[in-house]
Amino acid sequence: MADSIHAVHPAGDIILTLKNHDAEFATWDSNFDKPPATAAFPVSEGVSDSAPKDALTGEKEDANEDETTSGSDENQDIAPKMRVSSMHLRLASGYFNKMLDGRWEEGAGSTVDAEGWDSNAMLIVMNAIHGHVRKVPSTVSLEMLAKIAVIVDYYDYLEAIETFSQKWIGKLAKPSVYGRDVVFWICICLVFRVPDAFRIMTKIAIKGSRGPIQTMGLPIPQEVVNKLETKRQEVTGSAMDAIYAKQAELCVGGGCMLTCRAMQLRVLMIWMHMEYLDRLQPESAFLGWNIEFILEELRKIDSPKWDDATRGGGNIHRCTLTRNLVERISEVAMDIRGLELADFGISPSMPNKEVVWIAAGWQNST
Ligand SMILES: [Zn+2]
Repeated sequence: MADSIHAVHPAGDIILTLKNHDAEFATWDSNFDKPPATAAFPVSEGVSDSAPKDALTGEKEDANEDETTSGSDENQDIAPKMRVSSMHLRLASGYFNKMLDGRWEEGAGSTVDAEGWDSNAMLIVMNAIHGHVRKVPSTVSLEMLAKIAVIVDYYDYLEAIETFSQKWIGKLAKPSVYGRDVVFWICICLVFRVPDAFRIMTKIAIKGSRGPIQTMGLPIPQEVVNKLETKRQEVTGSAMDAIYAKQAELCVGGGCMLTCRAMQLRVLMIWMHMEYLDRLQPESAFLGWNIEFILEELRKIDSPKWDDATRGGGNIHRCTLTRNLVERISEVAMDIRGLELADFGISPSMPNKEVVWIAAGWQNST
């Protein structure tokens, strides 16, 4: 579509020119969501030597970690053009209605520039609003849907695209681990007003983000970012409290006998020191931490096993340090509630019962 005018509407009176099209979209900075500085339990003398070596290699590895999509360089200098109908643009979009007010009196061939969009996403949107249903794909990738969502949000095209968006959303796989795809979903749910998926995806973000979420320039209101971050800090704080409570419990009781208690307390305190938890400042806002990471680190602790001479020797004592603690924190994680669109004054675009993906088993996730 780069070499000539793409006739979305052959009799159209507007030439839509895409400037700065197909630029890099939604760059995910993998250094942004780093875990906190911790030192793993020493396993052998040589363990600490491996880290600097790993860090010094990999000239290209960092670039590979970033999940980014680059546009086609060869097409950057050719601005795609689409012949479209001002009537359809105006009907579908309050933005264009205002912008084009009186413009078409200039006659056929009036031009309008659009800046920074993905050309394929724009073509899908244009075909949809011009009623060319057969030219609108029945499925799109998550990233393409995010690109479409950005355009829909900017031009206020929700009503015109709503029917298509619900079908696309229903066919997409859902992520279960926080990352770029979850942020795409949060944006898509906000733009297309999908409350249940929004609740699920924001819960994943609360459990798995390590600080304020990266919006990557997507239209995600700061209010949503702030609310997610507040909940991440609350939940992480609850998990931390459970660890400190366990430490306090072992000082005054717990364990089946004093020796057992002393062993468990010592291991817990060493672990907390290695994880820097005994030096964590309240003002750190738990940056780098989240409840999933805490559970992951706790599960790495080997509870002390020792020969219990009080039982005649040869009896390995197996009280576990972390089982109850992991259970307690897992319950906190299970009880997390994701955010509601209604909290941000956004009503669902369609009744929940009509949203296809619920039938595909979304309710049972997370
Ligand atoms: Zn014991």
